[in-house]
Amino acid sequence: MSVGLAYCDRAGRIYYDDCAEPLADGGIVREVELDEVIPAPPGTVEMILPGRRALTTEGALRGKYALAAILPAGYTRLLVPAYAKEKDAPTLPLFGYTFACVVDDELYVAAMKTDESEDWQPRYFDDGELEAILDRRIGADPQNRVLAQVALCSREYGCFTAQNVFLERGEAALPVSPKCNARCVGCISEQEPETGLASPQARIAYETTADELARIGIHHLERVADGIVSFGQGCEGEPLLRSITIARAIEQIRAKRPNGTINLNTNGSMTDGLRRCIDAGLQAVRVSLNSFRPHAYAAYYRPIGYDLDDVLASIRLAVERGLRVSLNLLTHPGITDDAEEIAAMTAFLREVPVTMIQTRTLNIDPEWYFEAVGRPREPLGMRRAIEAIRHAHVAVGNFTHTH
Ligand code: SF4
Repeated sequence: MSVGLAYCDRAGRIYYDDCAEPLADGGIVREVELDEVIPAPPGTVEMILPGRRALTTEGALRGKYALAAILPAGYTRLLVPAYAKEKDAPTLPLFGYTFACVVDDELYVAAMKTDESEDWQPRYFDDGELEAILDRRIGADPQNRVLAQVALCSREYGCFTAQNVFLERGEAALPVSPKCNARCVGCISEQEPETGLASPQARIAYETTADELARIGIHHLERVADGIVSFGQGCEGEPLLRSITIARAIEQIRAKRPNGTINLNTNGSMTDGLRRCIDAGLQAVRVSLNSFRPHAYAAYYRPIGYDLDDVLASIRLAVERGLRVSLNLLTHPGITDDAEEIAAMTAFLREVPVTMIQTRTLNIDPEWYFEAVGRPREPLGMRRAIEAIRHAHVAVGNFTHTH
């Protein structure tokens, strides 16, 4: 068994060439070991990389374009595709491009299984089934603008946490903030015009009220005993900019429902705002970051009025106050596994033992990311980075679990 080339023609048709040895990009372009790839899991999506010629040990191939895989939830990417970019190649849209190849006439990907959750398996609805569920629920609370937003996200983006509001299961979305105090290069809810990229989701346009949020939270926890209600979703900016509203909503929910978990997904930028939410009854928090190194963090998040130290201070506070603390680590081969990055991460985890690190695949054009953050000096491999997390006695996963 050996690693062979999987590539596309200009029309996107996929071909296998067992005799060609593909290269991959782990921050440094290199050959691929057989034990770095696994059979493509169910739910994997293949994608041509337009204007990017496949790279092998023989060089860039004429008329053969790089193939990437988009992984299903529950897997962490280990390598990105390597390619030679043609001069008029378009910027790639925001997806998690993963190296793909052929082994014994089967598609393989450079990935690792890092979590399992029934609630995150692909969903299929009969015609009109989802619409009927949305309409019935909205009919029960027609003035609730948050319901209107999560209905749009359920319908247009297939967002699981939005759908859960209507399916009355698992983790339910409570978007709260139209504004953000960061300008992430790969922001999924607001892309700057000059990038020429559409953001995958439209950002919520208004400030939701504590009443609207609490009504949904109470309804969900009345029906889902161990349910999670989560402020901070993909369709909004930074929720801590509205910590007063979140605190009021938490108090209203807890006045009616003692069960379940109240969670916040945040960039962790405002420690005082987080303290206000914790004082109100917040039980879990998931803080997003792409790096534990100030320059790499600033290069991606482009923060306004805060920096990485504020984010780390918020994580420390949440651990000290006994919350269930997860980090949403936006991983990218070459950056997450750079020796300096692993050293900075393990030093922080030794001091601040969080509950879990979710190794989230960062959805961005790899070249664009390397231009922003810089290529690594010494990439050790994503598996080393994941081992380092486990070695620090921190769980590795991809989903927010209640226990
Ligand atoms: S923190 Fe979230 S909403 Fe804000 S810019 Fe980054 S990705 Fe976008």
